[in-house]
Amino acid sequence: MRNRRRLVVIGAVAAGTSAAAKAKRTNPDLEVVLLERDAHISYGACGLPYFIAGLIPSAQALTARSPEEFRQQGIEVRTQHEALGIEAANHRLYVADLRSGEEYTLPYDDLVIATGAVSSVPPVPGVDLPGVFTLRTLADGLGLDAALRDRPPKNVVIVGSGYIGLEMAEAFRARDLAVTIVEMAPQLMVNLDKDMSDLVLAEVQRQGVQVLLNDGLVRCEGLDRVEKVITQHSVVPADLVLLAIGVRPNTRLGEQAGLRLGAGKAIAVDEHMRTSIEGIYAAGDCTETMHQVTGEKTYIPLGTTANKQGRVAGANIAGMECTFEGVVGTAVAKVFGLEVARTGLTEKEATAKNLAGSATTIQAMDRARYYPGGTPLNVKLVVDSASRRLLGAQLIGPQGAAKRVDVLAAALYAGMSAHDLTRLDYSYAPPYAPVWDATLVAASVASRSC
Ligand SMILES: Cc1cc2nc3c(=O)[nH]c(=O)nc-3n(C[C@H](O)[C@H](O)[C@H](O)COP(=O)(O)OP(=O)(O)OC[C@H]3O[C@@H](n4cnc5c(N)ncnc54)[C@H](O)[C@@H]3O)c2cc1C
Repeated sequence: MRNRRRLVVIGAVAAGTSAAAKAKRTNPDLEVVLLERDAHISYGACGLPYFIAGLIPSAQALTARSPEEFRQQGIEVRTQHEALGIEAANHRLYVADLRSGEEYTLPYDDLVIATGAVSSVPPVPGVDLPGVFTLRTLADGLGLDAALRDRPPKNVVIVGSGYIGLEMAEAFRARDLAVTIVEMAPQLMVNLDKDMSDLVLAEVQRQGVQVLLNDGLVRCEGLDRVEKVITQHSVVPADLVLLAIGVRPNTRLGEQAGLRLGAGKAIAVDEHMRTSIEGIYAAGDCTETMHQVTGEKTYIPLGTTANKQGRVAGANIAGMECTFEGVVGTAVAKVFGLEVARTGLTEKEATAKNLAGSATTIQAMDRARYYPGGTPLNVKLVVDSASRRLLGAQLIGPQGAAKRVDVLAAALYAGMSAHDLTRLDYSYAPPYAPVWDATLVAASVASRSC
């Protein structure tokens, strides 16, 4: 007979560790058990491209907190323990200790599913050959780094040009490797509008990366390891292939337990991070989230969201009343010499949602023209044609895009119009911005008012 309420959390990277830590801090009487099937916990997968590039000397630096630190907080961490199934009616889990092979049942009062996402792998021949990689976990990153050192490749092919594919293109170029990107779409980064993505294409090509657009992977070939990639239109030599075509939510456990799925076939949750079964919460890349601009559920798996959702789940389980209202679709990536940022909807997305969006694109310097070191910043705003309410923004430039996008994300959260934006009291000094900041210039044009 247990005398303490037990919270079990499945998955211990961003959402799971946030949920466990917040629950325990809020209610120290809770018994908290954190299960993770991998050997590593609580790390920033977002740093993996910089580790591969050699910018961060050790993968250990990516770890936020060790199992020992969690244990000191009173949280029991069981690494290499995999949850095999959930018996929701009886509030218990089936778990395997992957080291000993032993299986056991683990009763819970509250459960958080934070099983994240898994890399999508195209269903084509040869993707299981040695030398073909995906990058999702710290173990993936260590495996890739070991392969790069033990068997240095010459030609790398990256399939997919989302932010991970492009960050990795930069990482491989930093190691002096020949890099080809194979992308099925007619543009890089499909979550940007084509006109903005062309700026990214120019930069990637300038850095010596070969880009094959409108070209899909047909198969990987090689005798005992990958030697070449066959695409719809080309044959590309490859002694290392990275598949970076996106992720899908890891919902196997939740589905088996009978949880309702929602947007992107991720676990459906409410703003308290409760699932469709009482006592079971879910957070992070395995869940859907609310898009505050469209008012619809969406699937945008990002680390920043995972941490917040986990924290909300943990707080509620510990007795607080906490909500996660959703996202506005903000993301940023460093692509070689460019900061590439977006928030809200692109013009393409607004059109797909039948929102009458009109777009304004401008280029302005990121600091006073006479001040040394200024660079051009490209800003595209999408506003509702009638109300001029801001629907989205894309910012690209060598500097200043990444943090300026946060102002626009705040404007979206507040439901501001382009006219409202022009009224904001921005800071100004020549080394940091022109008198008229690029985002204010764009807002002024988009607002069609004085
Ligand atoms: C290379 C790369 C770069 C990224 N860059 C950024 C960025 O710049 N900005 C950003 O916001 N996001 C970024 N992300 C995304 C971010 O890392 C993820 O959104 C975040 O890790 C999600 O956290 P999570 O806890 O929901 O899931 P995950 O990190 O996927 O963790 C889930 C954990 O659950 C474990 N698990 C699954 N099933 C079981 C089971 N049955 N039993 C026990 N354990 C289980 C898994 O082993 C895994 O460790 C990046 C990701 C990658 C791979």
